[in-house]
Amino acid sequence: MFAEVVVDIVHSKLSRSFTYAVPEDMHLAIGMRVSVPFNRNQLYGIVVGLSESCDLEASKIKSIHRVLEDYPAILPQLIVLARQMADEAHCPIAETLRLMLPPEMRRAKIQIKQENVAKLQIAPEDIAAWLAKYGVSRKKGILLNLLSDAEEHAVSELSDYVNSPLESLKQMDRDGVITLYKREVFRLPYEDADLEIVPDPPLMEQQKQALQIIEEDSKAGSKAFLIHGVTGSGKTEVYIRLVKKALKEGKGVIILVPEISLTPQMVRWFRERFAGNAAVLHSRLNAGEKYDEWRRIRLSQARVVIGARSAIFAPVENLGLIVVDEEHETTYQSDRHPQYDARHIAKLRVKNEGGIYVLSSATPSIKSFAMALHGNLTLIEMPKRVMDRPLPSVSVVDMRKELQSGNRSMFSSLLLAKMRMHLENKNQVILFLNRRGHSTFISCRNCGYVMQCDNCDISMTYHMAGYGEKESLKCHVCGNTKAIPLACPSCSSRYIRYFGGGTQKVQEELLKFFPDVKIVRMDLDTTSSKNAHAEILESFRNGNAQVLIGTQMITKGLDFPNVTLVGVIAADITLNLPDYRAPERTFQLITQVAGRAGRASQAGEVIIQTYKPEHNVIVDASKQDFRAFFTKELERRKKSFYPPYTQIVRLLLEGKDKQSVYNICSAMRAQIREHLAKYPTEKKRLINFHMDEAPVKRINNKHRYQILLKMFVHSDAEPFKAFLEQLSRTGYEDIHILYEVDPNNMM
Ligand code: ADP
Ligand code: ZN
Ligand code: ZN
Repeated sequence: MFAEVVVDIVHSKLSRSFTYAVPEDMHLAIGMRVSVPFNRNQLYGIVVGLSESCDLEASKIKSIHRVLEDYPAILPQLIVLARQMADEAHCPIAETLRLMLPPEMRRAKIQIKQENVAKLQIAPEDIAAWLAKYGVSRKKGILLNLLSDAEEHAVSELSDYVNSPLESLKQMDRDGVITLYKREVFRLPYEDADLEIVPDPPLMEQQKQALQIIEEDSKAGSKAFLIHGVTGSGKTEVYIRLVKKALKEGKGVIILVPEISLTPQMVRWFRERFAGNAAVLHSRLNAGEKYDEWRRIRLSQARVVIGARSAIFAPVENLGLIVVDEEHETTYQSDRHPQYDARHIAKLRVKNEGGIYVLSSATPSIKSFAMALHGNLTLIEMPKRVMDRPLPSVSVVDMRKELQSGNRSMFSSLLLAKMRMHLENKNQVILFLNRRGHSTFISCRNCGYVMQCDNCDISMTYHMAGYGEKESLKCHVCGNTKAIPLACPSCSSRYIRYFGGGTQKVQEELLKFFPDVKIVRMDLDTTSSKNAHAEILESFRNGNAQVLIGTQMITKGLDFPNVTLVGVIAADITLNLPDYRAPERTFQLITQVAGRAGRASQAGEVIIQTYKPEHNVIVDASKQDFRAFFTKELERRKKSFYPPYTQIVRLLLEGKDKQSVYNICSAMRAQIREHLAKYPTEKKRLINFHMDEAPVKRINNKHRYQILLKMFVHSDAEPFKAFLEQLSRTGYEDIHILYEVDPNNMM
């Protein structure tokens, strides 16, 4: 027997597999991890093929050293997927195969945890006779009694009833009346291990309809669905019923959420309904916990997987359903190499393995909604909130007028008045500002000098002291910090001014108006410790805090019944970003955060503060009119040749020496021009092509140049993309090259 093995080499240019001989007594299957000799090393690899014969010279073939697990770590269907992904991304399969395993498994050998268990070896009805015959100790009598149900019992469990049972158990094992052995245990990452199972609530009409459409259409062959349901329309209960149905049919399920730590409620709801059958893949689990959750899934002990992006590769057998909640979130697209989009992988998996996939959001991405209107996804509308609760009423405040009337604070008079009212009524308030820190930048009044990061071409943000950190200037790109200068580094003037506000400033100003109000803040600065997210959200849930201030972290799927007022402090922050997706992001953020208000019996109110109240995004978001926004935005993208009509490919070069980065980037531009001259069909798909410094010219002392290419989505463009990917693999000393398609971050 011979095996084709893809060897796991980092930064490999080797896109092929290698043939090894399989030793006589080795049982090998496709997908198993093996250790093989490679050059002079022992490396890990994945078996991707098996055959009886091989045309290579026998003397040249080495043998597989050993197998790492006695089962395929990668399911054969996921090897198929890895191959498709490698083809699409024009990269070696070794790189896409890596996505199919938890990274901890590749890096280190994780110990399997075991515990001692005991089980009765004789028939339960013979216990009495045995005891009578041998006249054993009281301790043994109790133990046999506990084991009389003929089930496995952990020794640790038995020791709750009997002091140090191990010695007695060992003796009885020797006597043949019981067996004592080791069993694998899974490290379970939850504290609430004995959660009570919650019964199904009766469904609302709209939920029934959604389920019915999915049921009927999937019978008729549809595999892809998009739920567009307003915030609070009860989408989660629809997922839960779909999961129940899949489980009943013996199928497994993957539920994707944007980020586990920001969606604790979703996880709790699923655990309340599916208990131990639900596995959670969480980036904050330790290596052992992650490995054990992965194995529970791989060994089909947990059939419902909840996780963020990478959970799309979970080894679920007999897949029946994939749900992508809040499908518009950018976290579903990975910008790390190899790039992938979990929504696209959902489509591939369902196509390969069967089942259906459901994308879902109150603010679908432009791309998905356009696909639905084209009939590539079945659209399901859930226009009403649960129990016919009204959507929150929205007011837009023109901040230019506030300034004219002498109000220089971050809060308009309307927002202040409303806060007072809602807080007096013992309700809770959410304030959203998509910028952390205190002041966005500080500059000299005399000469205009702006404090910059030493390592990056970016201004530094002023941060107040707190959470174990001193007052400082911080670079939000590289994390570098600096002390606050007493005088201008350029002209020595002592007049330094602070501009622009972040979440810290909102908190500071709020305390001036409401000194007695308890406030919690949730942003990157307050959530660095392991349980910080959960603690902040809990203190808001239980009413210890009345106001929650936060960045986009607080816009995702939170359900707090007592929140009746949401304030958007500055809608313009995302609107002004130099990115073609700025309108889409702004619409989503406003609608999502607005959706946190009035989710229970009391009606909700939203106040949007902006300097551009007439902007169509603000107008449509204030009416929560997704269709109106979508129609205009799609038209704009079409006119300006933006995705989904086109794709943007970027080659980003970074290096310490500016001149050599520039030179190599120019040389690459020349190579691309040459290629295009040779292949006119590929050139025909190109819309524009230019080279420039990247928007952030320097990060961490690395100078950055980019080549940007905009092209139509077309099969003729694929060979060109393969050429560009190959180009990005040219090795240069001290220069890092990144190949990206439609990257999330264009800075
Ligand atoms: P969405 O995800 O659409 O914003 P959720 O799924 O969070 O909405 O549901 C909003 C609220 O309505 C939740 O508190 C949920 O428990 C409740 N809910 C959903 N469906 C029902 C139902 N059929 N009966 C009663 N309450 C429901
Ligand atoms: Zn100065
Ligand atoms: Zn920096």
